[in-house]
Amino acid sequence: MAYYTLPVENLIEELRKLPGIGPKSAQRIAFYLLKVPRKEALKLAHAIAEARDRVKFCQICFNVTEREICEICSNSKRDSSAICVVEEPMDIVAIERTNEYKGLYHVLGGAISPIQNIGPDEIRIKELLARVKEGQVKEVIVATNPNIEGETTAMYISRILSPLQVKVTRLASGLPVGGDLEYADELTLGKALAGRREI
Ligand SMILES: [Zn+2]
Repeated sequence: MAYYTLPVENLIEELRKLPGIGPKSAQRIAFYLLKVPRKEALKLAHAIAEARDRVKFCQICFNVTEREICEICSNSKRDSSAICVVEEPMDIVAIERTNEYKGLYHVLGGAISPIQNIGPDEIRIKELLARVKEGQVKEVIVATNPNIEGETTAMYISRILSPLQVKVTRLASGLPVGGDLEYADELTLGKALAGRREI
């Protein structure tokens, strides 16, 4: 049942599809956008369009970038013997903020989750394996989230990499269990990184 005029209903409907936005928030944001000057509201629309058109995924690590190869992968000062495996590009930002890590990254684009029907083939594990097989990598640090899906993914990665000559490590405990890496503070994440252990 529609309570508002159709364009407002549509706007609320679209906003509701965003992660973390419930019906009430969607309604609040919709009316906020109707209240601010038109120019302000359109800035949001433009920012979405521009991000979608200009941002692509790095061909090596799948980080977000405006180029074919991201700034981290193309930086010769980074240590190419280490790959830190994360679930999402925003986790890279969290780890970069710690200033503890100078290696490369690999973005999986999710985690293994049998409940959500996400198997190893649905995330970029094949691509990780191919990178490690090139032979330059000596350590793979698995920095997936400290929850069931993240642990399952870490175990799977450690298993498929075990025939290769590479050390596989996992961030030390101390990270809030069940939480997301992106919400961990720099100090905790930095410590977890420094205290990583072999799996
Ligand atoms: Zn990259």
